[in-house]
Amino acid sequence: MMKARYLFRMDDITPTMDWGRFWALLRLFQRNRVKPLLGIVPDNKDPKLDIQKAEPQFWETMRLLVERDLVEIAQHGYQHILSPTSERALVTHRRGPHVERSEFVGCSFQDQVERIQKGREILQVHGLSTDNWFSPNHSFDLTTLNALKTAGFRAVSDGIALFPHKFRGLVFVPQQLWRPTWAPTGVFTICLHSNEITNQEIQAIRQFLRTPASITSFEAEVRAYRHRKLDGIKNSLFKGFYSGVKEVRGVFRRRPAPSRTGPMIQQPQPTPMQMDRGSISSI
Ligand SMILES: [Zn+2]
Repeated sequence: MMKARYLFRMDDITPTMDWGRFWALLRLFQRNRVKPLLGIVPDNKDPKLDIQKAEPQFWETMRLLVERDLVEIAQHGYQHILSPTSERALVTHRRGPHVERSEFVGCSFQDQVERIQKGREILQVHGLSTDNWFSPNHSFDLTTLNALKTAGFRAVSDGIALFPHKFRGLVFVPQQLWRPTWAPTGVFTICLHSNEITNQEIQAIRQFLRTPASITSFEAEVRAYRHRKLDGIKNSLFKGFYSGVKEVRGVFRRRPAPSRTGPMIQQPQPTPMQMDRGSISSI
């Protein structure tokens, strides 16, 4: 049986994010040769993501991280404005649970494709280009997937499954974990919100990276994807198992917000200029 492979994704990457925590995670990943998937919000308008004053060198920093092959990137929505919706979101590739708030679910094709394309253009203007996508609040519907295809996207980080698979012409790399958890087999994406991450959670990741866990990256999994009938069967079994466990635990509840108390990690924050002088290689 194939050993489990893990990859890390970091959500809500914006000029106003918590840069101290962002660099703390990035240093840890770089030391361990982990290439995380950064979800960049092209034109953030969500005040919840405004943790500190906008860093004017945000785009330059992102370009440098990509150029130096330290990260992979995905477009994370357009403006991250989460509006109430009564529609069911397609988070598990069926008509999934109600999501309370979404940037896209329930909107027309024209509207969705326009906003997705606007976001894509913003990234391109700043010298960043990606075929990877993940939605704010894990929420998308079939119209979103059609809009993504039309806008030229190829791969999505989301959904409950054991292995990458194709759905509506897009390669889905599943996203099932929010902290390192041992599994016997499968491809697991661990979703991290660096704005909220605690020192204990960073410590747990550090310990996990000391184990012989097999680490992969989003784009490596997309490249390696081949349709395998057996993976489809295992995916269906895993989905059933996952929803069974959730049911038993009385879940479908939100992940509790991590405590923001406790000492913050105070790390010197290299500017893109400092990175140019080589400090990025030592993060
Ligand atoms: Zn988000």
